[in-house]
Amino acid sequence: MNISLHDKRFEPYIKEVAIQNRISAIAEQLSDDYRGKRPLFISMLNGAFWFTADLLKSFTGDCEISFVKYRSYQGLQSSGEVMQSLGIDVDIKDRDVVILEDIIDTGRTLSVFLEILMQHQPGSVKIATLLIKPETLQFPLVPDYVGFEIPNDFIVGYGLDYDGLGRNLRNLYVLEK
Ligand code: 5GP
Repeated sequence: MNISLHDKRFEPYIKEVAIQNRISAIAEQLSDDYRGKRPLFISMLNGAFWFTADLLKSFTGDCEISFVKYRSYQGLQSSGEVMQSLGIDVDIKDRDVVILEDIIDTGRTLSVFLEILMQHQPGSVKIATLLIKPETLQFPLVPDYVGFEIPNDFIVGYGLDYDGLGRNLRNLYVLEK
């Protein structure tokens, strides 16, 4: 069923069950890759809160979790400027870090964050993102774990918002054409 958020209409895109299946597969892969280690997951708020929760419920080893908050989007557009409202507040030095992101569009937000993160001298860094738009990527980022590669469309639901609304939706929706 199509939905309305503010002045825009959205149509169903990826269903909850497909999202959960992909996340379980990524969690299994991460559990294998980090066996015997104690990774530090860094979740990019706000959008990645649901992805983070579901992924970590299926991660089987020891791990720690921390949150940061950077913002670059206004409405339907990337603003071109990245603002930090919650920075790194844990000791990163020599840790195996896994960044959890909801969606990579231009890649600007993550590139800015990676630069800051590297100053803290982590032992290793990997990136897990639920969604990526390869057509719009402008920064040299290669995520290690990807849920879905999608075209250049505007998505809401499952943590992603349109001007504050839609984060609570269980499925992903795309802006009506
Ligand atoms: P980037 O810096 O890679 O251009 O954009 C990353 C951030 O922009 C994401 O964390 C997310 O907050 C926002 N964003 C990018 N594409 C979309 C989209 O299709 N839908 C929504 N709701 N947010 C997006």
